[in-house]
Amino acid sequence: MAFLYIYLFILGIILGSFYNVVGLRIPKKQSIVKPRSACPNCHHTLTWKELIPVFSYMIQGGKCKNCRQKISLIYPLMELSCGILFVLSFHVIGLQAELIVALTLVSLLQIITVSDLAYMIIPNKVLLLFLFIIVMERTFIPLTPWYDPILGAITGFVLLYVIAIVSKGGMGGGDIKLFAVLGFFLGLSNLLLAFFLATFVGTVIGVFGMIAGQVKRKKPMPFGPSIAIGSLIAYFYGTDLVDWYLALLQ
Ligand SMILES: [Zn+2]
Repeated sequence: MAFLYIYLFILGIILGSFYNVVGLRIPKKQSIVKPRSACPNCHHTLTWKELIPVFSYMIQGGKCKNCRQKISLIYPLMELSCGILFVLSFHVIGLQAELIVALTLVSLLQIITVSDLAYMIIPNKVLLLFLFIIVMERTFIPLTPWYDPILGAITGFVLLYVIAIVSKGGMGGGDIKLFAVLGFFLGLSNLLLAFFLATFVGTVIGVFGMIAGQVKRKKPMPFGPSIAIGSLIAYFYGTDLVDWYLALLQ
């Protein structure tokens, strides 16, 4: 078991590093394999020693080896979060087919978080690819009832679409499509829970951001990271949360 935890952590940080590249390059219509990663400041191509997830950042003290330009902390943090979430997936779900769905969900959320933080874009290409993957996975690894993911997807789309109209652009097109895809992962009740949690997390981040002077009142804020946090809590702990809440009401 310990071996599987270590294996999933290493796999997670390596894939997390790749998802950073995907999230940064797809919106700019660049290839995700070529050219090799380079420093955005001095364009020095990174050697294998500089490409070790998390550790290279720590060894280099968060700076480019060549020009000493600071590297954004977001990238090693995203690598680390992917490693931790892969381990959490196995810890919560165990060695079951659903583990594949969990790792797919983490992968999707890692990529869209990077894109949304960097460009305020949730790329269509990424959503379409993951829509295809999750529909395939849900065919063989269904929820009960089998049409629950379809209900989740329709509800996610309609709910966010209505909010986008009512709020007049408070919700982006990418967010609407993302919720439709998330419906297939989560099913109806967890999708609704994910939405409430995402709104809650988004509000908390917004308020703290305003206090810290980071988020301007009128400036739109990327909603992707909040959606990612809300979806992960709903996916991993949704049933527990709903049971706990219902017990409170009795
Ligand atoms: Zn550099």
